[in-house]
Amino acid sequence: MSVITVAGVDVDTRHWIGGQRVASADTFEDISPVDGSLLGKVSRGGRDEAQAAIAAARDAFPGWARMTTEERGQVLFRLADLVEEHLEQLSILETMDNGSLLRSHRRGVMPRVAMNIRFFAEYAISRLHHPEFETRGHTNHVSWDPSGVTVIITPWNAPLMLATWRIGPALAAGDTVVLKPPEWAPLTASYFADLTAQAGLPPGVFNVVQGLGPEAGAPLTESPDIARICFTGSVPTAKVIARAAAENLVPCSFELGGKSPTVILDDADLDLAVDLAVEQYDNAGQVCLAGTRLLVQEGIADAFIARFRERAAQIRQGDPRDEDTQIGPNIHTAHIARVQGFVDRAKADGATVAYGGGVNTDLGAHYFQPTLVVDAPAGSEILTEEVFGPVLTMQTFGSDEEGLALANATEFGLAACVVSGNRRRAEEFCRFLVAGTIWVNCFFVRDLSAPFGGSKKSGIGREGGLWSFDFYADVKNTVYSPHGWKE
Ligand code: NAD
Repeated sequence: MSVITVAGVDVDTRHWIGGQRVASADTFEDISPVDGSLLGKVSRGGRDEAQAAIAAARDAFPGWARMTTEERGQVLFRLADLVEEHLEQLSILETMDNGSLLRSHRRGVMPRVAMNIRFFAEYAISRLHHPEFETRGHTNHVSWDPSGVTVIITPWNAPLMLATWRIGPALAAGDTVVLKPPEWAPLTASYFADLTAQAGLPPGVFNVVQGLGPEAGAPLTESPDIARICFTGSVPTAKVIARAAAENLVPCSFELGGKSPTVILDDADLDLAVDLAVEQYDNAGQVCLAGTRLLVQEGIADAFIARFRERAAQIRQGDPRDEDTQIGPNIHTAHIARVQGFVDRAKADGATVAYGGGVNTDLGAHYFQPTLVVDAPAGSEILTEEVFGPVLTMQTFGSDEEGLALANATEFGLAACVVSGNRRRAEEFCRFLVAGTIWVNCFFVRDLSAPFGGSKKSGIGREGGLWSFDFYADVKNTVYSPHGWKE
């Protein structure tokens, strides 16, 4: 069946190409992490579907690109309204598909999806201007022109939020889009495609190709007919995509993994520090920005770990549909096995599991316990590789200088969290921290106009506000001479 019903919500599992539903001969199974049930079978696209979607997006490009930002904005505002009208359906669908908390989807994630569309449409209309400037009597006029077909490839930890944070600026800039959603959570992209049609988005302006990465994603990135690639996912996949993009010199925006530090200085408010540390388990640790390396200054380490244990013991893990649940399941049993492998190898390397350490058997195979690993040897895998599960490590340091060196001792540079009671000391610490985003005495405060992205292996480029348009649009400078005018 091409239309499945998930928690009362009907969703079409075929591709969305040129404003039509298109099926593939093959399908793949979509399993819910909530209870391990089969949600349905989804079209498994390949090169043919990828090429058809790019052709549809290319055909639609001239019409969409020639519309004014205000005309495009009218369609995008309707789309944002429709997301808000379907907030409940999108929320339950995403929860059943990727296991994230239903209350977070209702109150935070899906309202943000609507905001991703509305914010960038408004930005293109009212803020995408540069004052003209003179060069020897000539006038420079800067514009942000549509660039062509944008390919967007997303992971499963926040599928629709991460997709629309790119779809919003790409469509507002006048690009057309082909989205390849994650195979472990493909459903909200498909539901969203129907909303784009209801909003009046012309056929081919937005397309969805479902399928596995190497089969459906790779041919999209290898196409000579695309203008931009935006990829969110892991470093190994980014390397494959960078090689494909190099062949046609297609600009890429990469938002990749992290191994971010949460640095707790000895003048920190300890209650706040413990709250922020426990927050790193959010979304069962499947957050690229999570500060999974707790770095605690020596003088407060014993007090910190005692309070951390108390707080961690209060975490309510369970069904993500329950209002009281704080941590739900992990995405897939294959992913759980990967997380368990990290913990087992950490123990073999000489580390100690101070808290948790395995599957929460009371809840079934999909729920990994919040876990804390201590005393891991310097340079060991658990301190250097991204686990992407509810596993934190704790290390201690003496001087601020040692703490800074420890915080920067990683190939990644996505984010950092610093907890301190002294503003000047925190500022000094942050000056030399290498990260795209730093939160001081807070976590996950995000503004769509702020630059977002990773340093080192955590990514290439920044998105958000003007940075998004600088990527999705072709920035053009037109120079007008004072001479030669007849009227
Ligand atoms: P992944 O790299 O395995 O897959 C991401 C997407 O790429 C999926 O849609 C997949 O189908 C596709 N893909 C896989 N191989 C491909 C290929 N050869 N060509 C084209 N597409 C291909 O990552 P994942 O396991 O789905 O997601 C987890 C990773 O994403 C973590 O590393 C996490 O940190 C990162 N992430 C980063 C951010 C950020 O903003 N920096 C946000 C969320 C997640």
